[in-house]
Amino acid sequence: LLRAIDVHKRFGATEVLKGIDLEVQQGEVVAIIGASGSGKTTFLRCINLLEEFHQGEIQVDGERIGYTEGTHRRLGETAISAQRAKIGMVFQSYNLFPHMTAEQNVTLGLIKVQKRPKAEAVETARRWLDRVGLSERRGHYPYQLSGGQQQRVAIARAVAMEPKLVLFDEVTSALDPELVAEVLAVMQDLAKSGMTMLVVSHEMLFVREVATRVVFMEGGRIAEQGPPDALLVNPKSERLATFLGRFH
Ligand code: ATP
Repeated sequence: LLRAIDVHKRFGATEVLKGIDLEVQQGEVVAIIGASGSGKTTFLRCINLLEEFHQGEIQVDGERIGYTEGTHRRLGETAISAQRAKIGMVFQSYNLFPHMTAEQNVTLGLIKVQKRPKAEAVETARRWLDRVGLSERRGHYPYQLSGGQQQRVAIARAVAMEPKLVLFDEVTSALDPELVAEVLAVMQDLAKSGMTMLVVSHEMLFVREVATRVVFMEGGRIAEQGPPDALLVNPKSERLATFLGRFH
C-alpha cells in the first residue's frame, strides 16, 4: 500500500532523510521510533506531500505521489488533493477548527472535499464520534473538550474520510499523562479493525502491543526494523539498545 524508495530530503544544506526505503502492506500497523531529530516527522510529512523531497519516490496505493508517473513533472493541485485524500493524518497538536463543534469538524472535509450530501456527512460523523466515545460531545466546541477528547475528534475527522492509510505523528505527546490512555485505546481499536497505520510514537508499551512492525530511525536512515518483540526486547544494534534504555 505504501512504498518509499530511497527518499532523500534536505533543509538547506542539512540532509535530514538520507535514503528511506520502506514498504507497508495493507492492514499493517507500523510504528516509527527514534530520537528527536532523526527525521520521523519529516518522513511522514513527505508521504502526505506536506514536504517536498529531492530524491527518491513514494507510492501510495500503486500511484506515485506528487509527480506524473515516469517523469519529474509535479502534479497539479487537483491531482495532489486527490492523492492526499487517500492519506489521513493526525498531528500532535489536534488542529481542530476552534469555531466549529466536534461534529462540524468531522463533517467539514466530507462536505467540502468529498462533496457528500450534508445528511450523509452528519451520519458518518456521528458514527465515527460514537466509535471514539464522543457521541455525547458532538455539539461541543474544542475549548469545551479536554485534550484527549480533542485528539479523538481529530482522529474521527481523519478516518471519516476513509483514507487508505492513516499517519499518526506523536499524537499523545501534547497530552496530560492521564489522557494518553483514552487516545491510545482508540488507536488500538482502529488497528484491530484492519486499518493501515503508520505511527510515530514514544509510547513503547503501545508500540509493543499494537504495532505489527517497528522501524527504528537514526540520523535520517532506517537503522533497524522488525517485529516489536524482537526489536524492543532484543535490539541488535547498540544504538537502539541505548535509545530503548531511556524508557526503562
Ligand atoms: P521529533 O521526535 O523531535 O519530532 P523527528 O525525528 O520527528 O523529531 P524531524 O522533526 O523530522 O525529526 O526533524 C529532523 C531534522 O530536520 C531536525 O534536525 C530538524 O531540526 C530538521 N528540520 C525539521 N523541519 C525543518 C524545517 N522546516 N527547516 C529546517 N530544518 C528542519
